[in-house]
Amino acid sequence: MFRNFKLVPNIIFGRGCFAQLDDIIEKQRNTSDSWVVFVVDDVFKGKAMEKRIPVHGNDMLLWVNVDDEPKTTYVDALTLQAKAFHSFLPSAVIGIGGGSAMDLAKAVSLMLTNEGSSTLYQGWDLIKNPAVCHMAVPTLSGTGAEVSRTAVLTGPEKKLGLNSDYTVFDQVMLDPELTQDVPRDQHFYTGMDCYIHCIESLQGTYLNEFSKAYGEKSLDLCREVFSNSHPDSADKLMMASFFGGMSIAYSQVGACHALSYGLSYVLGTHHGIGCCITFDYLDAIYPEGVKEFRTMMQKSGIELPRGLVKHLKNDQVEKMVTVALGLDPLWENCLGKDWKTIMTRDKAKSLFLKM
Ligand code: NAD
Ligand code: ZN
Repeated sequence: MFRNFKLVPNIIFGRGCFAQLDDIIEKQRNTSDSWVVFVVDDVFKGKAMEKRIPVHGNDMLLWVNVDDEPKTTYVDALTLQAKAFHSFLPSAVIGIGGGSAMDLAKAVSLMLTNEGSSTLYQGWDLIKNPAVCHMAVPTLSGTGAEVSRTAVLTGPEKKLGLNSDYTVFDQVMLDPELTQDVPRDQHFYTGMDCYIHCIESLQGTYLNEFSKAYGEKSLDLCREVFSNSHPDSADKLMMASFFGGMSIAYSQVGACHALSYGLSYVLGTHHGIGCCITFDYLDAIYPEGVKEFRTMMQKSGIELPRGLVKHLKNDQVEKMVTVALGLDPLWENCLGKDWKTIMTRDKAKSLFLKM
């Protein structure tokens, strides 16, 4: 069966295009009392961005904290807050921030129209009703969350996204200027998330011309940013992120992402840095990619944390292995149908113990 892939229908790109957000939202305001929710990363509280958010009379400005990556409990609490703000649904939910804030916006827009806790919908195509119109304004480039059909959430039992066609944003606003104040290390980690999406997609067994076309272009753009320090880096990385997301949407990621999910589940390691940590130990699987990654890391002056796992209790390491190996499609994409004979529990454990 071929996947019938849902795309973001409206995209605006360019430096300064954020100034058009008010006009774009206006089209969703169909009655005099209609309102929208801005889901905004609280890193922008008190910053110039705060004054630029086009909040009108009835609107809700919902600051979100992303010190921890999005949890189902947080999504449920934010949804309750939004529901209590007015007695009727908002016309739109607008997420402003990195992958975490965008995923929170996706999840809240879905949970406003779907009953019960977000834990009920962690999985594939479990969402029953269309979401409230939702828009993304990325302020950090790399995850591809702006284009994907998932909102990644950590729940009490699993780290798994709300994967559905309804999850896809209705509008994406790509303004590279908004990424200019991202700290250098975060810029690298989230940028490498994109680079690794490309390596894992392009080297995967699920590869097809659709994914290859987007993945190769995205990889070129990553190289211009991290190997050649091109002056238009912000523009390039924003498009690399979008194209990287398009590439994996029709293929899959691989070993690095699977292992990083294990690390993240037990240690709470954030996605970008988690992928960098695990990728650095995967030269046997991605020899060229890891070599280039290390050169880019050196050029960016980044040092990764080491020795994260060896002091953990055995049951914690075992849990990491279970979470990582539970992601069958990622391993199958990476190592083929017989992946279980290659990536045994012992092998995965020995990789974790090096980290
Ligand atoms: P993030 O959104 O977690 O943000 C990382 C840090 O950067 C935060 O401290 C944030 O406040 C800060 N930040 C963001 N924009 C900034 C700016 N312009 N200036 C200064 N600081 C800024 O990081 P991320 O790497 O973009 O996203 C990671 C999240 O995305 C994880 O939760 C991961 O699970 C999720 N993810 C989702 C998908 C998807 O397809 N939905 C794909 C990959 C990752
Ligand atoms: Zn990723």
